[in-house]
Amino acid sequence: MLSKAIQDAINNQINKELFSSYLYLAMSTYFAESNFSGFASWMKVQSTEEYAHAMKFYGYVIERNGHVELETIEKPHAKFKSPADVFKQVVEHEEKVTAMINKLYELAIKEKDYPTQIMLEWFITEQLEEEKSAGDILEQLKMVGDSPVSLIMMDRQLAARASK
Ligand code: MG
Repeated sequence: MLSKAIQDAINNQINKELFSSYLYLAMSTYFAESNFSGFASWMKVQSTEEYAHAMKFYGYVIERNGHVELETIEKPHAKFKSPADVFKQVVEHEEKVTAMINKLYELAIKEKDYPTQIMLEWFITEQLEEEKSAGDILEQLKMVGDSPVSLIMMDRQLAARASK
């Protein structure tokens, strides 16, 4: 059985993962409306992955005979100035998510909840990957600046991302 503290924290994380999915969908919309179909597609895949993260936590609570409490999902901020601005926000958001996962792990240690620690290890590795991929794209966007040709090339490159 999950402790109340762990169950509450995972339920909160389910909500945050669903918010991430929603935020990336808002970003995908911005790209689609700005005629960057490759960026839009990349971000839509990202949104789907965040939904899958929420479902992974969801499944875990059920598996441990806990109770899932679905709360209201916050409305995402949807004003973006440029592709670089979007990716700056992605990096900042992923850093926040990493901090949340780390806090959850600390709680699982405090509660001596070993299965939760093992489950969270997947997320710790995943966060490394998330920060790296968003960070790399942000660095490339900083390099290309306002060059339309380079942005179009990046758009084509990002279109190649398929869902896992
Ligand atoms: Mg996530």
